[in-house]
Amino acid sequence: MTEAPVKMRSRHVFKSFGATRVLKDVSVEVRDGEIVALIGPSGAGKSTFLRCVNNLELIDSGSVEVDGELIGYRRVGDHLQPLGDREASRQRARIGMVFQHFNLFRHLTAVQNVAYGPRQVLRLDRATAERRAAELLGRMGLAGREHHYPRQLSGGQQQRVAIARALAMDPSMILLDEPTSALDPELRVEVAGVIRDLARQECTMLMATHDIPLVEDIADRIVFMVDGTIVEEGPAEQVLNAPAHERTRAFLARMT
Ligand code: ADP
Ligand code: MG
Repeated sequence: MTEAPVKMRSRHVFKSFGATRVLKDVSVEVRDGEIVALIGPSGAGKSTFLRCVNNLELIDSGSVEVDGELIGYRRVGDHLQPLGDREASRQRARIGMVFQHFNLFRHLTAVQNVAYGPRQVLRLDRATAERRAAELLGRMGLAGREHHYPRQLSGGQQQRVAIARALAMDPSMILLDEPTSALDPELRVEVAGVIRDLARQECTMLMATHDIPLVEDIADRIVFMVDGTIVEEGPAEQVLNAPAHERTRAFLARMT
């Protein structure tokens, strides 16, 4: 079997906030159609790494490429220059992001939240953007809720709107940051179901999560990170059932 092409590749990524070194030599690959779970204790740097892939944070050194395109920088001769705002937001628009706390616009309805990016960034006309948004909401099991505001929706429904919003941009890949962590168990199940459905389509995903049952269910590969460094990575089954490192073993034992 030939391996799918690389969708995202980070090489030797370093990132600090002031004197705090948060990412220390992080190299990760995600192949086309692959579901990769990023696990590890709080403070490991998972969110920061996702934010670097999406160009919400600029890395200090190393490189991130999505579809072969350098993220956050452009090459000028033999050095790198940070992208301008316009280019940076173009890159962000191509990579879907789903956050733990949904981050919906509170003053917009579900359909307006989902249509917002396509209208503002992709310049679709309102009717087309809202028609597509309603379709996506339907796929997320939210038919009939199109005109609800976030405060009128449960956490699980809000997160499904957020997933629809990410998909509406027809992203090259989707990053999910603890998508089920803010939810009660029963709402967690409905959001996990939507993520599972996406995983079955040809979606490429990198997901930071503590939801080990969801990881067991959908992840092709697991990357285990502690303190800004990758401790272990491999096929999901292998990492879950026969972790090579004591730290992975201890972490998984605490999680299950
Ligand atoms: P995780 O998602 O694995 O819990 P984070 O990426 O959120 O980890 O955080 C990793 C470390 O980086 C933490 O010590 C956190 O306090 C620090 N950190 C994250 N974002 C910032 C920021 N904007 N400014 C300063 N420190 C930050
Ligand atoms: Mg986090």
